[in-house]
Amino acid sequence: MVQSKRIRVRFAPSPTGELHLGSARTALFNYLFAKHNKGKFLLRIEDTDYERSQKTHVEQAISSIRWLGFKPEEKIIFQSRRSSLYKKYLNHLLKNGAAYRCFASKEELKKIRMKTNSYQYNGLWRDRSDKDINEQLDKGLPYTIRLKTPRKGHIGFEDLIYGEIKISNNEIDDFIISRSDGSPVYNFTNVVDDHEMKISHVIRGEDHISNTPKQLHIYKSLGIKTPLFAHLPMILGEDKKKLSKRHGAESVESYRHSGFQSAPLINYLALLGWNPGNNEEIIDLQELISKFDVRKVQKKSAVFDPKKFSWISSNYLQKEKAQSIFTKIKSLDSDWGISSKDTFCLRVIELMKPRADSIQEIMLKSHYFFNGPKIFNADDQKKVWKDNTEEILKNIIQFLENIESVKSKNLERMIKNFIETCGSSLGEVLKPMRLALCGSLAGPSIFDLIELIGIEESIFRLNHFIIEYKDKYEK
Ligand code: GLU
Repeated sequence: MVQSKRIRVRFAPSPTGELHLGSARTALFNYLFAKHNKGKFLLRIEDTDYERSQKTHVEQAISSIRWLGFKPEEKIIFQSRRSSLYKKYLNHLLKNGAAYRCFASKEELKKIRMKTNSYQYNGLWRDRSDKDINEQLDKGLPYTIRLKTPRKGHIGFEDLIYGEIKISNNEIDDFIISRSDGSPVYNFTNVVDDHEMKISHVIRGEDHISNTPKQLHIYKSLGIKTPLFAHLPMILGEDKKKLSKRHGAESVESYRHSGFQSAPLINYLALLGWNPGNNEEIIDLQELISKFDVRKVQKKSAVFDPKKFSWISSNYLQKEKAQSIFTKIKSLDSDWGISSKDTFCLRVIELMKPRADSIQEIMLKSHYFFNGPKIFNADDQKKVWKDNTEEILKNIIQFLENIESVKSKNLERMIKNFIETCGSSLGEVLKPMRLALCGSLAGPSIFDLIELIGIEESIFRLNHFIIEYKDKYEK
């Protein structure tokens, strides 16, 4: 049978929904392990659950993996296309007596369970004669195939993360490996494929630990070498419940469509359950590859922290060139900044970059650079509008009217001096100015904004703000 000393790992998603963060982390750890050890990273789509494995989910899983940059190094394996291979292995087990046909109907099994007061199969068809079996086959009766598991002893393995895991064989009954419609079960196809693909290390979620003893029995019965196993701890939300959308954790696909980049996502996922041993938190892929050690993955569940992810993401965004962000924005929305010059758009990106976690945030919060605010939030307006606000803004307008062109730094100094000579406080002047210019109380320096949109447009916005307020509240 196939044996290999080379490191070969696979990521094996069941495409029953969008690829979530837990699966992406499993894919990443497989990828890092393969690259660190100069081995191969493979992809297998476990799409035997035909009803739940929709084509769109299969495509999404593959495109998410590609977007993350984990390129499979051999042809992608689709389990749905391998039924004849599984048949071959099932027949082999039937032939050598390691598995047997069971003709017990569902009702019969239910009765037996009630009688024996146990959920385990009682071995009804385990030692039947060929004659008995052939009689049933001649009648064309349906059957399942069960693995003949040992009644005594233990089965166990040394998990690379959890250490020794051992269970008593009397906890495992003669479980079904092929259903009555002829379809093999997950544990069986999983073993056959790991063997066929010469997988050296199975790295997967901790929720699969309970499957492993059954799979070990299948390996034994087939007389093939078992791979090594590393089960990864779960990822939980901050409330210690299984990670879901409620915790702000989206699927890989939705992070991608929200304009997040794959590099910070990879960086963040790598830190869920593992760290490089120092306090480093911004680590690029090459460094992750060189430092990753699967044995150092912690057993304790990891907690997803959306704030930390945002922080990492914004770190990456700061380092990225405006032109590169611009290209990505255009690929998400070709209309963004369409009526402005490229140089103007690039400057908008420069100003928004330090305040954003994602490309989408830049897109969503930058509209006022292109179009002045028309309406204002009433609470914000009330907050900034004092008895002297109209007068102050009019003074500023007058002041701006006397300037021809200006650089942000000079403008800042000049306006601040002007405010001082008027005897006003900075907040009294700058807050309503900001609201008038941006339509919001947060954003980049208003002096940078004025420099970019120009004096004329700024004056227009300030006037509009005064008129809008008076129309609303003083009529
Ligand atoms: N298809 C399984 C899942 O998506 C993974 C099985 C494995 O990695 O062995 O959870």
